[in-house]
Amino acid sequence: MRFRDFAEFCESIEGISSTIELTERIADFIRKIEDEGDLYNTILFIMGKVYPSWDERELGVGVGLLYEALENVSGKKKDKIEDMVRELGDLGLVSEKLITERSMLTLESEELTIRLVREILDDIASLTGEGSRKRKILLLTGLYGQTSPVEAKYITRLIMNEMRLGVGEGIVRDAIARAYFVDEEVVERAYMITNDLGKVAVTAKNYGKEGLEKMKIQIGIPVRMMLAQVAESFDEAIENGNIAVEWKFDGSRVQIHWGNNTLRIYSRRLENVTNALPEIVEDVKRSVREGVILDGEVIAIRDGKPMPFQQVLRRFRRKHEISKMMEKIPLQLLVFDILYADEEVIDKPLKERRRILREYVTESERIKISEQIITDEKDRVERIFNEAINAGHEGVMLKNPNSPYVPGKRGKHWLKLKSIMDTLDLVVVGGEWGEGKRSHLISSYELACIDNTTGNLLRVGKVATGFTDEDLEELTELFKQIIVYREGKIVEFLPKHIFEVAYQEIQKSPKYESGFALRFPRFIRLRDDKDIREADTIKRLEELYELQAKV
Ligand code: AMP
Repeated sequence: MRFRDFAEFCESIEGISSTIELTERIADFIRKIEDEGDLYNTILFIMGKVYPSWDERELGVGVGLLYEALENVSGKKKDKIEDMVRELGDLGLVSEKLITERSMLTLESEELTIRLVREILDDIASLTGEGSRKRKILLLTGLYGQTSPVEAKYITRLIMNEMRLGVGEGIVRDAIARAYFVDEEVVERAYMITNDLGKVAVTAKNYGKEGLEKMKIQIGIPVRMMLAQVAESFDEAIENGNIAVEWKFDGSRVQIHWGNNTLRIYSRRLENVTNALPEIVEDVKRSVREGVILDGEVIAIRDGKPMPFQQVLRRFRRKHEISKMMEKIPLQLLVFDILYADEEVIDKPLKERRRILREYVTESERIKISEQIITDEKDRVERIFNEAINAGHEGVMLKNPNSPYVPGKRGKHWLKLKSIMDTLDLVVVGGEWGEGKRSHLISSYELACIDNTTGNLLRVGKVATGFTDEDLEELTELFKQIIVYREGKIVEFLPKHIFEVAYQEIQKSPKYESGFALRFPRFIRLRDDKDIREADTIKRLEELYELQAKV
């Protein structure tokens, strides 16, 4: 398949805002793709992904590198290109323009195929270490050298992971269902288990519904974690009788795969964090029977008290001098669920899974099975809630003892009850450099919620308070690397990070695309354990707004 066909298709759907129409168009397009590899790549590329989220490879191409390749291929200087970005607002459009101007001078070269683009991107991803930057620029320059303008536009957007098509996972999932005549739920389940819509599409094409239903979780391939909804009250939680109550630990989620002599730990974003947690690895190997996938929370404990959640994340991010950090930030693992025990067990009820869990896990100094009490008494729940808060944790989790483990689902089977007014997790999309003694710091950050069907980011305002100077130093360092363009003091970022923010009130506002604005937003913390797709949705903002009106 020619890459041009893909790029032209993207262009043809770019202006469409109707979700139904987008779904239909994509379904029609993918149904015609014969080759498995082409189908796989098309599915990922259309969402602006080069690799599925479980795959550890990454391109390692930042904005700076892209600029250099474009400089090479167009002969234009960087500041000229930056001017164009300011004018057109998107590096994709700029690439298109640069290639249009260039192609007037050169002959059309050999035609690009989807497969070739994949190969070049894989080559780029495989380069590391000394000299890799130069080689990446060479490969990219070569790639742009072969593109037509429309291809350049989407290559750039693909590399930046932002296709600007309004096509999120929801739409692609529904398009797969439609293209191969299977139910959306069946596609969804297969996706949550494999974490790879490309693979799901190929299976749907080859084996239909039955093939999808047979897809099972496997040790070594991370599964989307089951999530919790906010419980508005104790009453809501116990209205259906017995519930399983556990502390809600203030740490970071992990999924542990232990089998075939290999142990891997994945973070909530499904990144492999095994190397950062050697003491947990050792202990699990010693006290857990092989052949399992466990779900749990890693917390940092000092003198019996939990340390702030940021400390846990520091451990997760750490690549060097890990043993020093092990002393400074001692970790404990609390296991609360099991997904695989020599076979898939996610469809068994929670009660049964907990029984299996106890069979496979022997507790140790560092590994505990979270305590769980099954009750239908409100007082009892309240007591456990207070105990959790007093012990320095966040609140309680209230689980339905008869529920299956539903990967990737934020449903009523798990409810969370926290002590503080709920905060929002929002994507950081832009910022502004400070003034005076803060002029070297990005001191205000623009935030957006997400529309979960389209994947579009909708702005809700800026946060400029709640930061310490140290926070700002660290954040500036982090965000400087993902500036897409700059206009005066204002900068735009690639959407990669989430802030948890508190606020006093959600207001209606025509100023931002979301239709909402936050009153007195305050920075709480960087939620680097969350992927941007896990940001709070526009639907959640609407709910909170309604709720607030009632109160
Ligand atoms: P939140 O991050 O606020 O959506 O809350 C859900 C998170 O709470 C999960 O992803 C876990 O990381 C964490 N958590 C802490 N304790 C538990 C527990 N006992 N059961 C399930 N999740 C827990």
